[in-house]
Amino acid sequence: MNESTPRARILVISLGGTIASTSSDDNEGVVPRLGARELIAAVPTLPEVADVESLAFRQVPSGDLTLHDVVALARRIDEAVDQGMDGVVVTQGTDTIEETSFALDLLVDRAVPVVVTGAMRNPTLASPDGPGNLLAAVRVAASPHARGLGCVVVVNDEVHAARFVRKTHSSSLATFQSPGAGPLGRVSEENVRIALRCRPLAHLRLDADVDVVPEVALVSCALGDDGRLVGALGDLDYRGAVIDGFGGGHVPASMVDALEELRQTMPVVLCTRTGAGEVLAHTYGFAGSESDLLARGLLSGGALDGRKARVALSLALAASHASADAATLFAKVRDSLSGA
Ligand code: ASP
Repeated sequence: MNESTPRARILVISLGGTIASTSSDDNEGVVPRLGARELIAAVPTLPEVADVESLAFRQVPSGDLTLHDVVALARRIDEAVDQGMDGVVVTQGTDTIEETSFALDLLVDRAVPVVVTGAMRNPTLASPDGPGNLLAAVRVAASPHARGLGCVVVVNDEVHAARFVRKTHSSSLATFQSPGAGPLGRVSEENVRIALRCRPLAHLRLDADVDVVPEVALVSCALGDDGRLVGALGDLDYRGAVIDGFGGGHVPASMVDALEELRQTMPVVLCTRTGAGEVLAHTYGFAGSESDLLARGLLSGGALDGRKARVALSLALAASHASADAATLFAKVRDSLSGA
């Protein structure tokens, strides 16, 4: 039995990436060349699932996308929903899906499913995964069970919440994981199974008049880091910074002064570079520990990893206004994630 809403209207929006990458005659490496229409044509069974329409929006490797592109995409998705679409699928490179999907989660305040997908094997390789991922993504976008979930990532027949998902492997088809949470559900044959639900984040309204998205720096700590890079950030026109610290949210003692100085000029968020878990609050007391840095005015990133914290802080800076500063808006996103 097909669970999709009868004749759901789904818009597939293409941005490029491996799923759209082919080689030219001269045998060079693959580059994004296919648009949404060609991707849809490669899946002959799609019309059985929904009425699918196409929009080629960008044609780039996903590392060339920006938050400005995602803001424009969010507005285009809003228009599509206003025009009667029952769901939207975005195809793009997998390299930055964890950031773009999270930004869409914060920007698109609609009940209809917004599904991001991509591929690990391009169409010129044996058993490319793009067509299967697109079919699964359209099934999810057309499913009433996926309504009200916010933005999700569908790859390898799994449904991941944008807020948790990470690319964890450079080439595995099972690269997308949600550390500490797991997938919300999966696609099994033609059925969309959603086992867990989470409250959408867009009600936080970070999209108010986002015309200019301020630049936020992301700096990862490394053994022996002396804080030179952090010291230079103040002169580089950033409006905020995210520090991916060691372990529970620690930096070398030699970086503390530079962070405290930077903190006087912009919001600075502390995350953990470990890949899972959250920043501690009051366990360690050495210079550069989480309690030291939080006492000096750094904001805890909570369970947000550095990349998602950077997205959240950028949008919070863009949406901040007299009665809600960026730190307050950022904290709302962070606390929504941890259930606080
Ligand atoms: N390797 C990437 C991908 O999976 C390329 C990109 O992100 O555009 O699509």
